[in-house]
Amino acid sequence: MQKTISLRLLPSEAASETLVKQAIARSVGVKPAVVNGYILQKQSIDSRGRQPWINLSLLAYIDEPFRERERKSFSFRDVRSAKQTVIIVGAGPAGLFAALQLIESGIRPIILERGKDVRARRRDLALLNKEGAVNPDSNYCFGEGGAGTYSDGKLYTRSSKRGDINRILELFVHFGADEKILYESHPHIGTNKLPQIITAMREKILECGGEYHFEKRVTDFILEGSHLKEIKTADGLRFSGSAVILATGHSARDIFELLQHRKIQIELKPFALGVRVEHPQSLVDSAQYHCDLRGEFLPPAAYSWVQQVDGKGVFSFCMCPGGIIAPAATAPGELVVNGWSPSKRNNPYANSGIVVSIEEKDVQAFNKYGQLAAMYFQQSVEQNAFLAGGGKLVAPAQRLADFTENKQSGRLPDCSYLPGIHSVSMKEVLPAFVSERLRLGFREFGKKMKGYITNEAVVVATESRTSSPVRIPRNPDNLQHPQVENLYPCGEGAGYAGGIVSAAMDGERVAAMILAKYGPQSQ
Ligand SMILES: Cc1cc2nc3c(=O)[nH]c(=O)nc-3n(C[C@H](O)[C@H](O)[C@H](O)COP(=O)(O)OP(=O)(O)OC[C@H]3O[C@@H](n4cnc5c(N)ncnc54)[C@H](O)[C@@H]3O)c2cc1C
Repeated sequence: MQKTISLRLLPSEAASETLVKQAIARSVGVKPAVVNGYILQKQSIDSRGRQPWINLSLLAYIDEPFRERERKSFSFRDVRSAKQTVIIVGAGPAGLFAALQLIESGIRPIILERGKDVRARRRDLALLNKEGAVNPDSNYCFGEGGAGTYSDGKLYTRSSKRGDINRILELFVHFGADEKILYESHPHIGTNKLPQIITAMREKILECGGEYHFEKRVTDFILEGSHLKEIKTADGLRFSGSAVILATGHSARDIFELLQHRKIQIELKPFALGVRVEHPQSLVDSAQYHCDLRGEFLPPAAYSWVQQVDGKGVFSFCMCPGGIIAPAATAPGELVVNGWSPSKRNNPYANSGIVVSIEEKDVQAFNKYGQLAAMYFQQSVEQNAFLAGGGKLVAPAQRLADFTENKQSGRLPDCSYLPGIHSVSMKEVLPAFVSERLRLGFREFGKKMKGYITNEAVVVATESRTSSPVRIPRNPDNLQHPQVENLYPCGEGAGYAGGIVSAAMDGERVAAMILAKYGPQSQ
């Protein structure tokens, strides 16, 4: 018999196959010997009470042979002689998942990526961390795999209505991710594992006959009426295809400028901006798990908060338990931070973005830039932070309790941010309305978690690339740009995603629309 069972176990029990089988036997009323195996379907932690519990939902095989989890299969086709070719600008999750979907549909993708392959990109990240040297084409946001490659690889999303999350997770597993992402409530992959997965995707695209070009920064669009005829790259090459998927991410400011210059409609979009806060992981663990020591059976704890301050959202964003704060600028003279963690999340720090919503009325001083006002506001805050930090990507920072009390910190605590931190008063670095809302927001968060407001924690500026400050519009029914009939804005940069999974799902949606218009059945 196969039976779906829900169990609530101690962390140490949930980690032991024998103890889980015993719990199944108790729950069904059979002997443990007849429980032949089980497949986990959902796993989550309930840490609301003093004792954390693990909730499991599983399919148990009782008195019948155990069968391994069925893996989803994908039929990638040989597209070498496909009738239709589609240009994809940007090899982030949106571009890559669009490419894979096109290949499954018999359409040949040509990927143009400004950055380098994952391995070469790693060398540029080392320079970024050691010497504060930003390569504008190869950094934490640009390069193969996009912004998500050297990240925490969190794979959860709130946009479940926009696509098939399970299909995205199955594809990640197909290309080498651990199966546990299929059942964990907060799956993540880790910086150390993502590059191999991205490499495997590239190898599949090439094996099927797709093209993949690195160090091809797109610099111009050649239009013929409402048709995008050709794409020009910085080295003077030209590419053309039936359609163009523009999946260049939230940091491709030159692409937004190009669109504005070519009079291709774009729109200002609200986004969020603030700081990254770093606590000792042990402090977050003991507050969230109500214990002195987390022990080996629970993962490093996280938190997630949202608070209204003066009618504006202040919220935590992209938390990296056991992680590192990373320099995520894409041009010299700007200071941007973000976070990453390895698969084991075993660094001694917990960092999270804490950001304030930025709306159109907040960026009025930049109105002369039209629809790019929010983007230039974002850039100006990053440039201020760069100057306040003292060069070479040394970041402005303040102890958290000091920040909430408006006191400048003396010596700063240790911090995972490799280029180093420099003591400042955050209110000198951030716009006053941002810094004040953050200060009040932190105070409210402090009421939710014991010990959160502490001078052992440090805030680091700026967390500014939370989402795109620009939207590239598209028709809701066919996802084409309203003015350019074969241009498909896609992913986070176009304003239709906010994370790895939602960007991947958007890539698939756009690919499906292209299939409907240009697929094998079309002329
Ligand atoms: C350090 C860090 C950690 C993150 N952690 C997480 C996380 O744990 N979980 C999560 O869900 N999200 C995370 N994110 C956000 C996530 O990476 C993005 O939401 C996601 O990658 C967006 O996908 P995308 O394909 O739309 O764009 P991107 O991933 O930004 O990809 C865009 C691609 O386009 C290329 N490009 C840009 N301009 C041009 C041009 N002119 N010509 C050619 N190519 C160009 C870029 O090089 C890039 O490869 C993190 C981001 C960063 C920076």
